[in-house]
Amino acid sequence: NIGFINGEYINADEAVIPIDERGHQFGDGVYEVVKIYNSLPFLLDEHLTRLKESASAIQLKLPYSLDDIKKIILEGIKRSELLNAEVYFQVTRGIAPRNHLFPNVSASFTMTIKPARKVSEQSYYKGIKTITTKDERWANCHIKSLNLLPNVLAKQKANNEESYEAILIKDGYVTEGSSTNVFVVKNNTLYTTPLTNNILSGITRKNVLKLAQKLDVEVLEKSFTTEFLISGDEAFLTSTTVEVLPIRSVNNKVILNGDPGPITKLLHESFRQLYAE
Ligand code: PLP
Repeated sequence: NIGFINGEYINADEAVIPIDERGHQFGDGVYEVVKIYNSLPFLLDEHLTRLKESASAIQLKLPYSLDDIKKIILEGIKRSELLNAEVYFQVTRGIAPRNHLFPNVSASFTMTIKPARKVSEQSYYKGIKTITTKDERWANCHIKSLNLLPNVLAKQKANNEESYEAILIKDGYVTEGSSTNVFVVKNNTLYTTPLTNNILSGITRKNVLKLAQKLDVEVLEKSFTTEFLISGDEAFLTSTTVEVLPIRSVNNKVILNGDPGPITKLLHESFRQLYAE
């Protein structure tokens, strides 16, 4: 496992973060996760652009240019010798004696490259179980911030109920999953929550919407309720890690007959083509 810290590549398992690191003490930073398929980073430019936007939203100056970050990642992939992997990188407001005020130090960039986490094949052909739970996060969920406590608690709650994902509900409407975006197909129209400060602008979401348009699937970016989700013909989650993952049930209520639907399968196939080419 490759790690990158203090401008150097090291063994990720040996990397050490100083106690006064602001990511460690305050969660004061932003991050990205990028998939590597066949030694190539997938949609890297989109992830780098989002990193810059997240950083700028918290008034954090990146310690490297996006071009330099790209070089660091490409060199890391080479050193890892991994074909299929996951790159995690984060930028924090640096290392300084603990004090809420911004310190006058440069930001810290760290990265790990590890074998990609696998979602079981069964999840793709059977669909996964989900629960709904209250969205207890803050007002700026469009920022990919390190503060993931509500997401962690929601995902654990889902796991405790033998489910894969927790779908978050705010003011009666689905926002997103704890680490995914949520889609429903009803009467051949694809619905997903519109982009506001309530959700992360998922890179998989964006690319799936583009594919849907190309495939002449009608798309509506419109908020929907749990009842609407359950009454759909198909539903799925998207993220860098899970790609397009069919939902079998929500709160133990099965969607149609539970099996992945044709539009879900078509979109996943087309999405896989984007990196298989
Ligand atoms: N929503 C949240 C809260 C996430 O943490 C993530 C990614 O991990 C996503 C959505 C999906 O985003 P992406 O497709 O860019 O991985």
